[in-house]
Amino acid sequence: MSDYLNLIAGQWQPSVTGRTFENRNPADEGDLVGTFPQSSADDVAAAVAAAKAAQPAWAAMPAPKRGDVIFKAANLLEARADAIAREMTREEGKTLPEARGEVGRTVNILRYYGGEGARLFGRVIPSERDRVFMHTLRSPLGVVGAITPWNFPIAIPAWKSCPALISGNAVVLKPSELAPLCATRLAEILVEAGLPAGVLNVVHGSGEAGGAIVAHEHVRAISFTGSEATGGKVAEACGRRKVRVQLEMGGKNPTIVLADADLDEAASIVLNAAFGSTGQRCTATSRAIVERSVVEAFSEKLVAKARAMKVGPGLDAGIDVGPSINAAHADRVVTEVAAAASAGATVLAGGTRLTEGVLGKGHFVAPTVLGNVTPQMTIAQEEVFGPVAAVMPADDFEHALALANDVRFGLSATICTRSLSHALQFAQRIEAGLVMVNLPSAGVEYQVAFGGSKASSLGPREQGPEAIDFYTTLKTVYMKY
Ligand code: NDP
Repeated sequence: MSDYLNLIAGQWQPSVTGRTFENRNPADEGDLVGTFPQSSADDVAAAVAAAKAAQPAWAAMPAPKRGDVIFKAANLLEARADAIAREMTREEGKTLPEARGEVGRTVNILRYYGGEGARLFGRVIPSERDRVFMHTLRSPLGVVGAITPWNFPIAIPAWKSCPALISGNAVVLKPSELAPLCATRLAEILVEAGLPAGVLNVVHGSGEAGGAIVAHEHVRAISFTGSEATGGKVAEACGRRKVRVQLEMGGKNPTIVLADADLDEAASIVLNAAFGSTGQRCTATSRAIVERSVVEAFSEKLVAKARAMKVGPGLDAGIDVGPSINAAHADRVVTEVAAAASAGATVLAGGTRLTEGVLGKGHFVAPTVLGNVTPQMTIAQEEVFGPVAAVMPADDFEHALALANDVRFGLSATICTRSLSHALQFAQRIEAGLVMVNLPSAGVEYQVAFGGSKASSLGPREQGPEAIDFYTTLKTVYMKY
């Protein structure tokens, strides 16, 4: 039996076949974090059946009482924050301060959606007819599926599950096989807080479980975060079944640096957004689009800061950048950098795997800055999902904006400037769902809508009050009195 189990109908249990998979520390391949059930469509069917059976009673509970369960879970998570942050660093690789930040944010997510139980508002709309009372009600969808990635292994499971649960749905959660432990901890805490059996089910696995959730006839909505390719398959399958779908996928997020910006601050903003969480954030900056008159001065500052970053195991003190999630991913990152260099980009910093001493045990990539990147290069168009910043010169604001919009993604975008006029024009004309002025493109808050445009996102927004729109259906009630 595996070290960790699936949660189905309130019972922790192995997969039907008994098969398991391993999860290893990306900073040290010799460190086995744990073994998990390798689930099949049969496990998913059992989880969906449990969710379907449990959902009506959960939906019948007054929503503020559902909120009480989630509030209690927030307190339990807060009490265990440090232990869970350490587990997160072991399974995902991010530095301990980054992991602590993610757990703290998850506590806030739980408190926020616990509170939403008292705010599942409808509206009263005046009728044009005499003595007709019209109002809208929010109803849950039933059973919903959540498929989550490895890069925020507790925050994303929480920000999908909690708005679903507070709305009265039952959830089948499939965490990433690359970081499955934190989602297990979240489920343990929700069970301990009093979530009734079957209301949240967790099915681990890789290869079959995700597709089986999407295909199951009783799953009424899917919320997915991950790659563009898998997101496309999920959307097609949901379209065929005519069920709701919400996708959060990649980004090719720009930071525009105008000549009037504080260049030191702009370099710090790009550094934070490009190399934080090892560049493995969908909101990471991967393109710094810099006015030509300051591109050299800006690049010098960014390169100096990137070279000063300390790369190493995230549990060690003073580390700025942890490992990539696995060997294949680290190899892909340096291969893409090499391809950019062959296409004419200049490697100003990094560009290689780091293997000296203790780094040889894991999957480390040096923080990388590329200069002379042109819009046609693959590195300027495709998501790298690693610690790589591509610097692209621009003639002026209009040219920078055109370059920023010249990709198929549209998740997050930053401008560094002292000009209010350029900042406001940027907010109006950039093709992105998240717009930052003098702030890193990554680093979003839980109480406000999150999502992108173009190929980055599909469906209603996540987080904030808008998240409830995805997990509820609106009934319009007409009453003659
Ligand atoms: P994937 O997009 O491949 O997602 C993997 C998850 O999707 C797994 O849980 C998998 O479960 C499930 N899945 C796979 N196929 C299907 C399907 N047809 N229907 C439903 N679910 C399915 O991400 P990876 O983790 O492999 O990461 C690959 C790349 O994705 C990264 O390198 C990065 O570029 C990007 N990414 C983007 C993220 C973001 O925040 N936007 C986060 C993480 C990754 P199962 O195999 O059991 O079906």
